Amino acid sequence: MAAIKGIVGAENVLEAYEDRYCYTYDASAVTAGREGTPALVVYPGSAAEVSALLVLANAHKIPVIPRGAGSNVSGGSIPRAGAMVMVLTRMNRIVIIDRRNMIAEAEAGVITADFQAEVEKLGLFYPPDPASKAFSTLGGNVAECAGGPRGAKYGVTRDYVLGLEAVLPTGEIVKTGARTMKCVAGYDLTRLITGSEGTLAVVTKVIVKLLPLPEAKKTLLAVFADMDRAAETVSQVFMAGVVPTTLELLDNIYIRNIEEYVHIGLPVDAEAVLLIEVDGDPAVLDKQAGIIARICREQGATEVKVARDAKEADELWVARRAAFAAMSRVRPTVIGEDCTVPRDRIPEMVRAIRAIAAKYDIIIAVLGHAGDGNLHATILTDERDREEMARVEQAAAEIFTATLAMDGTLTGEHGIGLVKKKYLPLEMGEGGMMAMRAIKRALDPNNILNPDLI
Ligand SMILES: Cc1cc2nc3c(=O)[nH]c(=O)nc-3n(C[C@H](O)[C@H](O)[C@H](O)COP(=O)(O)OP(=O)(O)OC[C@H]3O[C@@H](n4cnc5c(N)ncnc54)[C@H](O)[C@@H]3O)c2cc1C
Repeated sequence: MAAIKGIVGAENVLEAYEDRYCYTYDASAVTAGREGTPALVVYPGSAAEVSALLVLANAHKIPVIPRGAGSNVSGGSIPRAGAMVMVLTRMNRIVIIDRRNMIAEAEAGVITADFQAEVEKLGLFYPPDPASKAFSTLGGNVAECAGGPRGAKYGVTRDYVLGLEAVLPTGEIVKTGARTMKCVAGYDLTRLITGSEGTLAVVTKVIVKLLPLPEAKKTLLAVFADMDRAAETVSQVFMAGVVPTTLELLDNIYIRNIEEYVHIGLPVDAEAVLLIEVDGDPAVLDKQAGIIARICREQGATEVKVARDAKEADELWVARRAAFAAMSRVRPTVIGEDCTVPRDRIPEMVRAIRAIAAKYDIIIAVLGHAGDGNLHATILTDERDREEMARVEQAAAEIFTATLAMDGTLTGEHGIGLVKKKYLPLEMGEGGMMAMRAIKRALDPNNILNPDLI
């Protein structure tokens, strides 16, 4: 302990049981509870401190759990007993926003929304926008390769990461990628570490590319009396040649509960709504919004509303971001799956989720970043009810099997974590698992970094 305090300063180490207990949770339904209480929580202030901590942990084979805001929903920052939780939030400096080259460099603990606000002041745009952006960190976003509603047009975190500063489990500080738009020197370590869920390296700095801030946006709400038609509309919009910034699908359970929570006049009798945004040159926005509205009507939308102004549009997006919180008022345990399928299979996937909910007699609400095929089948349950949890487990397994049968993936953005670990071989196959184990062994020979994940 003295050595650790010597590295980061005694004021940056938590030892009291009550403090350590607070780090046995993240936003998933997994909790380490008493058994998994970490030995200590440390807040390093630099890559050099992270490195010194890892050298020490590696020598003594102490498990290390990197942590940003702890907002992941896959059990990714749940420690095992005796572990060192390493929280990166002290490292929260934006190093540079380089307008001429349209890149920025920031430390891992910077809050995503704060970073976006700073780049926007300069007329620039960092698109990845997890609904948790008000509290998630850039390091956590990189580790999970976070996505968000804007993924339909702009992609996910990995599409913006040009390079990293990261510390390997053995303590070496590595710089990957470059401050350039192109870089093919050596293996693509940037991509390897991005999405590795904190199992291969601790990210300390992130270099990202930026875009010009879109001049304007338009938000539409299409109301459907039939879920199938709403789901079918998703690929029809893209086939018409319009790429919306976001295309979110919400079912009736979500609509009702969000409305009860935020009171903005959502259509509570609708079977489904599509919340759609287009952005860019104001000269083309009306045309794009017109095409989308026409397609929605042709597909059976009973109403298509266009937000009159920024305030009305903001209300809709605030409501969308409150979705998770709204659902947690229904049942105490909310499990947000994030299976992702090819866009044209969304209707089939929604039908499968509903059939599975009926079969196991549980509540599963459906919300999706449908524009990129990412469906959040949201299981509303109570983890204290063991009998119901057994049914939930079976239902989740069936959702995963259905997803893979539809050429989908187990996770589009939330990560495998502890939650889906046992299902990963179904997607990766033995060869894929073998390759991943070989990479993990090469970089982390003593298996100290997030040893229980993936
Ligand atoms: C209300 C709500 C809405 C959400 N919406 C979205 C969404 O739209 N899209 C989406 O993708 N996710 C979403 N999430 C999930 C979550 O916010 C993201 O996974 C986010 O990227 C996690 O960031 P964090 O800073 O909280 O990381 P944490 O939860 O602390 O950590 C996540 C994982 O990364 C590792 N890690 C953290 N920091 C580092 C680092 N510096 N170096 C190496 N490893 C690290 C941890 O060990 C852990 O495995 C949502 C969560 C909530 C609660």
